[in-house]
Amino acid sequence: MNLSAIPLAVRTTCPYCGVGCGVQATPLPDGSIAIAGDASHGANAGRLCVKGSALGETLGLDGRLLHPQLREGGALRRASWDEALDKVAGGWRDIIAEHGPDAVALYVSGQLLTEDYYIANKLMKGYIGSANIDTNSRLCMSSAVAGHKRAFGADLVPGCYEDLELADMVVLVGSNTAWCHPILFQRIVRAKEARPQMKLVVIDPRRTATCESADLHLPVKLGTDVWLFNGLLCYLAQHGVVDAGFVAAHTNGFDEALAAAHVDCADPLAVARACRVDPRDVLDFYAMFAATAKVVTAFSQGVNQSSAGTDKVNSIINCHLATGRIGRPGMGPFSLTGQPNAMGGREVGGLANMLAAHMELDRAVHRDTVQTFWDSPRIADRPGLKAVELFQAIEDGRIKAVWIIATNPLVSMPDANQVQRALEKCQLVVVSDIVEKTDTNAYADVLLPALGWGEKDGTVTNSERRIARQRGFLAAPGEARADWLALCQVARRMGFAGFDFAGVHEVFDEHARLSGYRNDAQGSPRVFNIAALAGMDRRRYDQLEPLQWPLRADPAGAVEGTPRLFGDGRYAHADGRARCVATAPRAPAHLPDADYPLALNTGRVRDQWHTMTRTGKSARLADHVPEAFVDMHPQDALLCGVREGELARVSTQWGAMVARVQHGGGIARGAVFVPIHWSGQTASDARVGALVNPAVDPVSGEPEFKHTPVRVEQFRVS
Ligand code: SF4
Repeated sequence: MNLSAIPLAVRTTCPYCGVGCGVQATPLPDGSIAIAGDASHGANAGRLCVKGSALGETLGLDGRLLHPQLREGGALRRASWDEALDKVAGGWRDIIAEHGPDAVALYVSGQLLTEDYYIANKLMKGYIGSANIDTNSRLCMSSAVAGHKRAFGADLVPGCYEDLELADMVVLVGSNTAWCHPILFQRIVRAKEARPQMKLVVIDPRRTATCESADLHLPVKLGTDVWLFNGLLCYLAQHGVVDAGFVAAHTNGFDEALAAAHVDCADPLAVARACRVDPRDVLDFYAMFAATAKVVTAFSQGVNQSSAGTDKVNSIINCHLATGRIGRPGMGPFSLTGQPNAMGGREVGGLANMLAAHMELDRAVHRDTVQTFWDSPRIADRPGLKAVELFQAIEDGRIKAVWIIATNPLVSMPDANQVQRALEKCQLVVVSDIVEKTDTNAYADVLLPALGWGEKDGTVTNSERRIARQRGFLAAPGEARADWLALCQVARRMGFAGFDFAGVHEVFDEHARLSGYRNDAQGSPRVFNIAALAGMDRRRYDQLEPLQWPLRADPAGAVEGTPRLFGDGRYAHADGRARCVATAPRAPAHLPDADYPLALNTGRVRDQWHTMTRTGKSARLADHVPEAFVDMHPQDALLCGVREGELARVSTQWGAMVARVQHGGGIARGAVFVPIHWSGQTASDARVGALVNPAVDPVSGEPEFKHTPVRVEQFRVS
């Protein structure tokens, strides 16, 4: 038998949702790639959802950006990498010299690998000296980050996926887990089948596919989550379920949080009225939660994407702190991240208000630690502009150059028409992408070809803090390069030392060393620590197995991960205690009125990912939902004069689009749902971002994607 003829499988990680499933990719002699789940991976144990299993269908080179391009005389022309890099570095140098470091910005993405993110953050904060680097993860989980920091003292996810199987009750809030985190949902359903006493409660304004497995669905009115969870806190107190010993020993602020909740939410009937749900269902949920010790409350974009997102997160965490249900198997609040590396970006400070290694931009000792470690000429000393502010600053001229990497803000940002105006005005727009034509690329002055999934190498971290390798198994197409490398090459052209890496493993090594580095005894205990992985050479880096941070090495040198945090009752606040945060219900930033009488909710469909630049290549995936739609209640459709199957004009005060009317998505009266995926590049020009209001949460800066006043009317061709 000729062993060399047997194709070798490469173990890598799915590039889509935050579950972070392990994938085995096998290049076959005919040039295709066989895709299978990695049975040894802790997230998925060999299973893949329909998107993950279709990865091999999305790898063709049609539509790929293969060479750098420069805009000249209004048109893009092919250029060499040297020309393109000189243009970026020279442009940034000139703009910084004339207008200062805050006149340039990076807008990056949860699609980046941790090493790409690390270099982008290092360049911006340590060398340019500005914190104007933000990410599309701002649109996704920044409210969870802010809620964690307020409650725990740092952005720490307490538990792990196994807790969702060990729990006797799983509460899913603002999450269509069945479609958006399918493999994790399958784990929950299997656990429930094995233990029928396990209860599943779904809290979602829509009756989604997730509800089909639920014991109880609470179709709360959009934006009323704080009502519901503050009501739960009151109920727990009224029924003697608060763990007074835990609260006294490990928390601050419980009395204030309970008093704040009592103002509006002490009466479950009032809560039910505010949430527009059956009072019996509210009481059933409260009684079930009170009676069940092992509860996990998992939440996602329906909670985060709100102008009150951080308060919603803390109202959930408060209920777990009040009952001491945290840090132990089968219990705790759990943030489901949307993107494959939303967590990795947080590790390296890829948000405008964070430093690397989960250190804080507003703490001098942390700034000094990072600057000393980097030996950098400067360090940003105040938060930069968050995503929505960043594009507003481009439009008003404060930011004159932006480098956008691995994201398509002209489709995905709220008030996307404002982003278009901003890029039209911007002096220098650089875009790194794998795709040649996107709505955003149309405004680029410099286009840089990036490596895609299957071509690039690095690490990602999933929702349960599990760091895993993405491994390349395809040759770089055309002249595409890794994003970390392009960033280093620009940095060197700008005259900065500290960007000479022989390979991506050296970037990871620096990241790991920084996580354990101390130059000052005052530094608080480091919450993010993967120093046990420092010093890996290329071979060991290639062999890296998935591990959940924080990491430690045993006496024999074996590295162990940490599935759960806070089991010792100690949190990351200086006094070691968690915080219950006083929250009060508040309405969405913009309310429906006579002109825009309905509320627009946005989200994903099962078989597409973001703006479809990859999943759009698979005919199988496209079959599931072939075009953009507006889903609404039949009676609202009647009042709007539109019928199922017809095209309708969907408009808000920020923009408009055309979509086909459908019913059947379990939409309550007064709301409509439009998916996020379609863009100006697809057959149906339907950028829902153009409709979404730009209101943001005051703490997290996360936009309100789940509530924009909207009008639906007959579409007439003019
Ligand atoms: Fe990929 Fe998420 Fe599906 Fe897993 S559940 S295969 S990570 S899209």
